[in-house]
Amino acid sequence: MKRNVIGLFLVAAAAALVFSAPTNGGAQTAPPAQHKAQPPRSVRLYLFDCGVLHNADMGRFNLKKEDVTTTDMSMGCFLIAHPKGNLIWDTGAIPDDSWTPNGRMTTQHVTLPDGQKRDADVDKTLRAQLAEIGYSPSDINFLALSHYHYDHTANANQFASATWLVRQVERDAMFGGNFSGSLQPSTFSALQKSKTIIIKTDEYDVFGDGSVIIKSAPGHTQGHQVLYVKLGKTGGVVLSGDLYHYPAEKTLDRVPTFEFSQEQTRASRVAVDAFLKKTGAQLWIQHDFEGNAKLKKSPQFYE
Ligand SMILES: [Zn+2]
Repeated sequence: MKRNVIGLFLVAAAAALVFSAPTNGGAQTAPPAQHKAQPPRSVRLYLFDCGVLHNADMGRFNLKKEDVTTTDMSMGCFLIAHPKGNLIWDTGAIPDDSWTPNGRMTTQHVTLPDGQKRDADVDKTLRAQLAEIGYSPSDINFLALSHYHYDHTANANQFASATWLVRQVERDAMFGGNFSGSLQPSTFSALQKSKTIIIKTDEYDVFGDGSVIIKSAPGHTQGHQVLYVKLGKTGGVVLSGDLYHYPAEKTLDRVPTFEFSQEQTRASRVAVDAFLKKTGAQLWIQHDFEGNAKLKKSPQFYE
């Protein structure tokens, strides 16, 4: 009973707030920060800052320090908001629940199952960046990962209620232990029970209108894929996954040492080059620190 009285009081207080708003001389008040996002009229691409990864060993990329302007890597997470639904593409290296933001850049340490250690700097959680534009993880319809390495899967479990778009070989490797390279199974374990669409075609049209296409690009992992987004004003963009990490891999024709199949990576690079030519799309190398620094970050977006 007491609870109901308090509840009623809160409702009354809220109503008073609503009705008092227009008395401030008609000035526009800022919308509440956590308003729920509405489907956009046209496709939008949001880029979230999921941190910076420090790489000590350039030999893994068949590069030397002199070949690159910085050894640091950006980590982008992406939301594609489409009139018919939305898609999260890649989820960073540091799980939101493993650290507490303090308003400053902080260095987080990752220890991989094989004992390898990595450092990444982060200052905002993915959850907070989504909330800033009105989305919670339960609002997300589709999740797709470029591939299963730890620096792309950190927050995958948050989107277990979405429909997961994945290739059979990739899923088998993730849950069958037949993986190559670095991964953190605890970060994607919840996907095992997610509603799942197994992609069987080279290109998969997520919303059926040609604007958001997941394209097969195996090699880095068994079922590695890239994402094409066709935007009204910006034009076409291909999100690279880890088809390349550093632009120098493209200009100097280098393939990392830790690919599932270097031969497949080479073939995928040729196929994606042809796709870029055909569509006129630009390639965004997701880990390219300098390229990423020039891009608009959420809450701004590309359309
Ligand atoms: Zn990566």
